Amino acid sequence: MRLVTIETQGGRQVAVLARDGTSVRPLKPSAGEAAGSMLGLIAAWPTLAGSLDPHLGDAVPLADVKLLAPIPRPSRNVFCVGKNYREHAKEFASSGFDSTAKEVIPEAPVVFSKPPSCVIATGEAILGHLDPTHSVDYEGELAVVIGKGGRGITRGAAMGHVFGYTIVNDVTARTLQQKHRQWLLGKGIDTFCPMGPAILTADEVPDVRKLNLRTWVNGDLRQDAVVADLIFDVPTLIETISAVIALEPGDVIATGTPVGVGIGFTPPKFLKAGDRVAIEISGIGRLENPVV
Ligand code: MG
Repeated sequence: MRLVTIETQGGRQVAVLARDGTSVRPLKPSAGEAAGSMLGLIAAWPTLAGSLDPHLGDAVPLADVKLLAPIPRPSRNVFCVGKNYREHAKEFASSGFDSTAKEVIPEAPVVFSKPPSCVIATGEAILGHLDPTHSVDYEGELAVVIGKGGRGITRGAAMGHVFGYTIVNDVTARTLQQKHRQWLLGKGIDTFCPMGPAILTADEVPDVRKLNLRTWVNGDLRQDAVVADLIFDVPTLIETISAVIALEPGDVIATGTPVGVGIGFTPPKFLKAGDRVAIEISGIGRLENPVV
């Protein structure tokens, strides 16, 4: 099922998105903390997963509610992975914007993070003007949402810790990413983490490698890839991070972006005010944000 966080006159609620995407069924107060918080639902999932139906309210047209990011404010930084598709790693290396690279294709996952404060919902504006260097770029990415936490999760056990999947746009100010010799300032800018529109639960994704990701800027198709092309796959990422940082329910791992970002073009095609970035992943939906 697809899970969303919505805002109505009754406050913030978690809801199930209908298959056709036109309506939602909010969780009723009988669901306890899960009704008002996706993090609450993820924590309660082991007991609620098979018995959600009695806790679902009547259908409400999607047009009548405001869609928030599925996890509007993650409890800690969003984990991200850089240079995790071969062709993208090459375009990044040849762009001259990578100040940290020792090699074109990484030998181990390149892990960094974005602060929770930069998460926004589909439809909300990316504040491109906050980047003083005018080098705002998009990165369409599949993101993994952790269900059961743990330290030292092995590759073999990793998929059992996945709650579901969503979409993240790892928006990046390229010149800041290059200038400061690390990626936090270039990628942690307020509004630079559009997330959503929904979390697709893991039970509906028998093989994550088959998911297809596409990104458009103003209707122009820029990225088109399958998750099978990841250099370091989802189990490897979970194993790598959890080896040293215990993963917690609700943690988000953005798995990296494929070839086709703005700096891959000569000259670079940076985002400007008035642009619209849309990212789709099969089964999850469409994350679309204007740039101002
Ligand atoms: Mg990225």
